[in-house]
Amino acid sequence: MKSCASPEAEAVSVQADPMARYQAHREFADRRKQVQAARTYFYINEAQCEKNMTTFLKSIEAVSGSTQCTGLAAIKMTALGRPQLLMQLSEAIMRSRRYAAELAGSARATDVITQDIDVATIEGALKEASSVQEESPEVQQWLKGLTYDQKGLIHLFSWSGLIETKMLMSDLFQVPNLTTGRMEPLIASLTKDEEEMFKNMMRRLHTIFSHARDCDVRVMVDAEQTYFQPAISRLTMEMMRKYNREKAIVFNTYQCYLRDAYHNLTVDLDQADRQHFFFGAKLVRGAYMEQERARAEMLGYDDPVNPTFERTTEMYERCLLETLRRVQHYKQYAQPKKLAIMVASHNEDTVRFTVQKMKELNIRPEDKVVCFGQLLGMCDHVSFPLGQAGYSVYKYVPYGPVDEVLPYLSRRAQENKGILVKVAKERGMLRAELFRRLASGQLWYTPNGNYTPV
Ligand SMILES: Cc1cc2nc3c(=O)[nH]c(=O)nc-3n(C[C@H](O)[C@H](O)[C@H](O)COP(=O)(O)OP(=O)(O)OC[C@H]3O[C@@H](n4cnc5c(N)ncnc54)[C@H](O)[C@@H]3O)c2cc1C
Repeated sequence: MKSCASPEAEAVSVQADPMARYQAHREFADRRKQVQAARTYFYINEAQCEKNMTTFLKSIEAVSGSTQCTGLAAIKMTALGRPQLLMQLSEAIMRSRRYAAELAGSARATDVITQDIDVATIEGALKEASSVQEESPEVQQWLKGLTYDQKGLIHLFSWSGLIETKMLMSDLFQVPNLTTGRMEPLIASLTKDEEEMFKNMMRRLHTIFSHARDCDVRVMVDAEQTYFQPAISRLTMEMMRKYNREKAIVFNTYQCYLRDAYHNLTVDLDQADRQHFFFGAKLVRGAYMEQERARAEMLGYDDPVNPTFERTTEMYERCLLETLRRVQHYKQYAQPKKLAIMVASHNEDTVRFTVQKMKELNIRPEDKVVCFGQLLGMCDHVSFPLGQAGYSVYKYVPYGPVDEVLPYLSRRAQENKGILVKVAKERGMLRAELFRRLASGQLWYTPNGNYTPV
C-alpha cells in the first residue's frame, strides 16, 4: 500500500472524483488477489529495482546467447520503480485527455491524437478564453512543448523531455486553465524524492532497451492492471520511438479483454506511422479480469473488461485484423518489417483465425512479421505444428528461484480450469501419437520443419 500512495495523499472516493480509480485503495493493496496468470512485483526499495533490472539484463543476454538473437525477452515495468508513480502518471494522462477534449470542444475525452486539433486551434481556444494570457512566458513555453506534425497534434507535452529526464514530472504536466488563465498541474505534487525515483525508473528502462538494442534482442513490455496501464503503455511507446528506429526492439502489449483495446491499439499504430518508427505489439486476451471486475464494482466505476468471453474474442480478432491489414499495407509499400506482431494465446481458434487471415492477406510465415507465443509446458500441440509449418513460435519461459516459480506454476495449473482441459487434450494427443509410432514402427521419428524463427 505504501509503495502505491504518496505519503501526503488522502483517501479519495471514486464517486467524488472519477480519477480516484488511478489511486491506491487498501482493499486492493495486494495486487496478487484474483490474479493467477501473472507474476506480481512488490516495491521494496530502489536497490531492489536495480536488482530486478540486472535480472532483466541477464535474461536479455541469455536470450542473445542461447537463441542467436532470434528470441525475445519480457519485462514488467512495475518491477522497475515505485508503482505509485505509474498510477500518478496514468492519472495525469487521463486528465490531459479531458483537457484536450475541452480544447477541441469535444464531448469525448480520448487521446490527443484522435481529437483532430492543430496548434492554431489551441491558440484560438486560448485567445477565446480571454483570461488566458497567451503572451505569458509560461503559456509560450507550454506551446513550445506541444508535439505535432502537419496532420495535427500528437501530444500536449514533450514526452521526450520526460523520458530523457530533462524535465520534472510536476513541471511537465501543467496546462493553462481556460477559465483562470493560470498554469495548473494535471498531476498531484511530487516530492523531490519521488521525482528522483521517477528518473531512476526512466534510467533503468533506457539501460534495458539500449542493452537489448546492442544485443539485438527484442523486449516485450508486459501489460498489467488498468490503473497502471496508461502510463506503462505511454512510456513503452516513447521507448519504441527512441529504440525502434531501425527495427522493432521494444514491443508493447495490448489486452483485448479491455473495451478500449481497439482504440488504444489504433492510436499507437497511428503514432508509430506518423513519427516513423517500427512498431511491435503483443496481443493477449488479458490476465487480470477477475481483479479488474472486483475493483470496478467495489469502487463504483465502469467495468473496463468486455462483458463476455465472446466479446473479448471479437475484440482480439478485430485488433489482429487491423494489424494484419497494416502489415499487408506496409508490405505493398516495400516496408515489410515496419510492424511486428506476437499472437500470444493458447486458444486454438485464435491461432487458426490468424493463420487463415495471414493466408487471405498474403502474409507468409517466411515474412517473419507475425509470430506466436505460448507458455513453456503448455499447448505444445499448438506450438509444434506451427513451428513445423514454418511459423515463428515462441515458448515463454517462467524463470526465477524455485520457491517462487513453482508456486506460480502450480497456482496456474490448479486454479485455471481452462488450462487443465488443454492439458488433458494434449495428453490424449501424445498417447495417440505414441500408439501411431508403435504401430508404424517409427518410434524415433523426428519431424522436420523450418525451425528458423525471427
Ligand atoms: C506468451 C504470453 C504472454 C502473455 N503476456 C501477458 C501480458 O503481458 N499481460 C496480460 O495481461 N496477460 C498476458 N498473458 C496472459 C493472457 O492475457 C491470457 O490470460 C492467457 O493467455 C489466456 O488467454 P488465451 O487466449 O490463451 O486463452 P483462452 O482460454 O481462450 O482465454 C481466456 C481469457 O479470455 C478472457 N475471458 C475469459 N472469460 C471472459 C469473460 N467472461 N469476459 C471477458 N473476457 C473473458 C480472459 O482474458 C481470459 O484470461 C500472456 C500469455 C501468453 C501466452
